[in-house]
Amino acid sequence: GDPFQTFYHRDLIVTPAGPTVRRPKPKHGDTLKFGHNYADHMVDVNWDDKKGWHRPELKPLQPFMIHPGAKVLHYAIELFEGMKAYRGVDNRIRLFRPEMNMQRMKMTAKRSALPDFDAEELIQIMSEQIQLDADWVPASSTSSLYLRPTLIGTDPTLGVGEAHMAKLFVLSGPVGAYYATGFQPVSLLADAKYCRAYSGGVGGYKMGCNYAPTIWVGQMAAAKGCQQVLWLHGDDETLTEVGTMNIFVYWINENGEEELVTPPLTSGLILPGVTRDSIIDLGRKWGEFAVNERKITMSQVRKALDEGRLLEMFGAGTACVVSPVDRILHKNQKTNTLDELHIPTMRHNPSVMQRFYDVLTDIQYGRSDLMPGWTR
Ligand code: PMP
Repeated sequence: GDPFQTFYHRDLIVTPAGPTVRRPKPKHGDTLKFGHNYADHMVDVNWDDKKGWHRPELKPLQPFMIHPGAKVLHYAIELFEGMKAYRGVDNRIRLFRPEMNMQRMKMTAKRSALPDFDAEELIQIMSEQIQLDADWVPASSTSSLYLRPTLIGTDPTLGVGEAHMAKLFVLSGPVGAYYATGFQPVSLLADAKYCRAYSGGVGGYKMGCNYAPTIWVGQMAAAKGCQQVLWLHGDDETLTEVGTMNIFVYWINENGEEELVTPPLTSGLILPGVTRDSIIDLGRKWGEFAVNERKITMSQVRKALDEGRLLEMFGAGTACVVSPVDRILHKNQKTNTLDELHIPTMRHNPSVMQRFYDVLTDIQYGRSDLMPGWTR
């Protein structure tokens, strides 16, 4: 018959881990190092271009075998997602806007020439996974269960061409508090000679190939005493993202109005973050300041700083919700010097960043039903 265009939750083959292979759950969720702990089970679904999607499996976490010629290992035909399940104050486990992650995953699959699938089916399968590993979802309003849906091209043929075999899997694991002792501001290296994404490229998609080349740049930043990279683009040093987060600037703009601004998605340089979208929506709902998606350049940032108009700068992403910026080491193109800029984010009071953090975490942990459609 015709190849299966999607897998189905109703076809899920569940093989629970026996009691002997189940591993002890961490007692104090808050001290967990990101990505070092895995829950007991994984989702695994295979695809090939003749049969389409095979039956999905939920089974004990285990290594799998792929041929050394598998396309993922040579041409990085790989994409992933990052999302969380939160145990609320009512003890119920919630996902935060999972439809947005699925939409991004489907868009990225298309751009990677990997197979499409039905978003709702994967959400239901992951929900089943979370229920089976419910004991791994920390009972803490600062911790959560991180979910890592992944899709790879697996056929062992070395031609640079579309994958004829693929595998979708979902890992999960408990992650602890990002801010165990309050917000920790980060310092950034801003040097236009490094770039994360370019026009016509794939910066707007969550492909593994976007991340590998950033690691060495991160090391360069660390060597200069900076924790993250402020990714610039083009001759006018447009701000794009910070580390693996979207960037927000809160300032008094040149027209004298209070404005929250973040770069637009239309450039194709920016990952369409779920946190980014949520912050824009909340800011517009409050209606207390302008919220705009538009280009921000380093010279605008420096001018606003000089004139005392720059109030806050922060990153936004699932891992930390928001992350304050307190310092930028800017490689000045004109003078060829490294200029140190001090960003007053931590001193601005009342903090717009803190308010977004509070409202978003209230929704995620079931303390607020301000946005009923945002959790399930
Ligand atoms: N930008 C990049 C490059 C990222 O990897 C992420 C993390 N997915 C984000 C932004 C933030 O996206 P989200 O809010 O969906 O986590």
